[in-house]
Amino acid sequence: MNAYLERVLAETKAKNANEPLFLQTVEEVLSSVEPLINAHPEYEAASLLERLVEPERVIEFRVVWMDDQLKYHVNRGYRVQFNAALGPYKGGLRFAPNVTLDTMKFLGFEQIFKDALTGLPIGGCKGGSDFDPRGKSDGEVMRFCQAFMTELIRHIGPDVDVPAGDVGVGGREIGYLYGQYRRIKGAAELGAMTGKDIKTGGSILRPEATGYGAVYYLEEVLKHDGLEIAGKKLAISGFGNVAWGIMKKAAELGAAVTYFAGPDGYIHDPEGVVTEEKLNFILEMRAKDPMRCEPYAERFGVEFVPGTKCWDAKDVDVLMPAATQNDVNMEWAKKIAASGVKYYIEVANMPTTNDALVFLKEQKHLLVAPSKAVNACGVSVSELEMAQNSARLYWDAEEVDAKMHKIMTNIYKSSADAAERYGLGYDLVAGANLAGFQKVADAMMCQGIF
Ligand code: GLU
Repeated sequence: MNAYLERVLAETKAKNANEPLFLQTVEEVLSSVEPLINAHPEYEAASLLERLVEPERVIEFRVVWMDDQLKYHVNRGYRVQFNAALGPYKGGLRFAPNVTLDTMKFLGFEQIFKDALTGLPIGGCKGGSDFDPRGKSDGEVMRFCQAFMTELIRHIGPDVDVPAGDVGVGGREIGYLYGQYRRIKGAAELGAMTGKDIKTGGSILRPEATGYGAVYYLEEVLKHDGLEIAGKKLAISGFGNVAWGIMKKAAELGAAVTYFAGPDGYIHDPEGVVTEEKLNFILEMRAKDPMRCEPYAERFGVEFVPGTKCWDAKDVDVLMPAATQNDVNMEWAKKIAASGVKYYIEVANMPTTNDALVFLKEQKHLLVAPSKAVNACGVSVSELEMAQNSARLYWDAEEVDAKMHKIMTNIYKSSADAAERYGLGYDLVAGANLAGFQKVADAMMCQGIF
């Protein structure tokens, strides 16, 4: 490995030894940008890599809220403002009990390159809390969001940092967060948050954007191989917002999600989740707490397999992990390789462990596409929401959808081109890292050293 890269990687590991998720993504990104580092010896003199792996700012704060029994709770809030070389910090908020500073740094680092890949002027960032919205009443969620924003507001704004949703933060939470922002600020700065409901300044298609974009990306991958998406069978994990978008768009284009997994096991529906009735039932299941996919089997008379995942399905063309990080480890990767499936399209942020990713990429019959490219349509439509808010108008679905298409096609193309340019052949994983990295590095080099 390039000596500069090797040194920075070793220093980063030593400095952040207790942050395995963050180190996992740093290692994954840095190990694939070697050709670019070799081509730019000036990066070392500018300490570019050392600056890139260090967040510009890390904010950690106390969030105190009262439950319905008038009992107080203390949670931890975070915002990791990683890199704003390309534009205001942009990234979601995740509310989940397993959120730590490590989770925030891993997601924030990934977001830098994802946001760069969109070609839009947004920097990389992530935030959240170890608060678990599951099992909480509406009033409890509202009071938590208000307490969270009361501190976060000091650090954000339409030109500074624009939070949005992520796991555990949907339209309801964004509404409460933005409401508190507006109350404190005394100004309707709509562009201070995205993922807002369309009734309160949001963009049409934002809820569907991540899932739809993933399918648009898949279409490009298939086109490259002379194939059409119609008739393809997909296995996915998750049935939340993103997974639902995949199901809906796949059905519209004549493909079908025939397997999907939830926390309780997986569903096999050979006909696919393609009818309006089934898609609506997914929405109903999604609103339940806790989320379980077994009711789908009871309702539609299909197979439910408890306590396991569907990554060894043999009768599908495409696998799309769309639930959470490290969903696919080495054990599953071996089953995927043996199943004969041809496309492994990551959707959730970092759904594959690094060893499994390396192994899957080595399989000649398998095409691997990385999440930071595939799921980038969510943040892209967030940026389109910012643009609409700044211009004080709304675009219609046709206009937003056309832009989504263009952005996803560009992401696919720029990734494939970057890999080709650096002699790596058709490698969409390295290509996405190279293309995103180049954009951030160029902007950082233009702005001087700080
Ligand atoms: N949380 C989403 C992501 O991982 C969306 C971020 C945004 O819309 O700002 O990209």
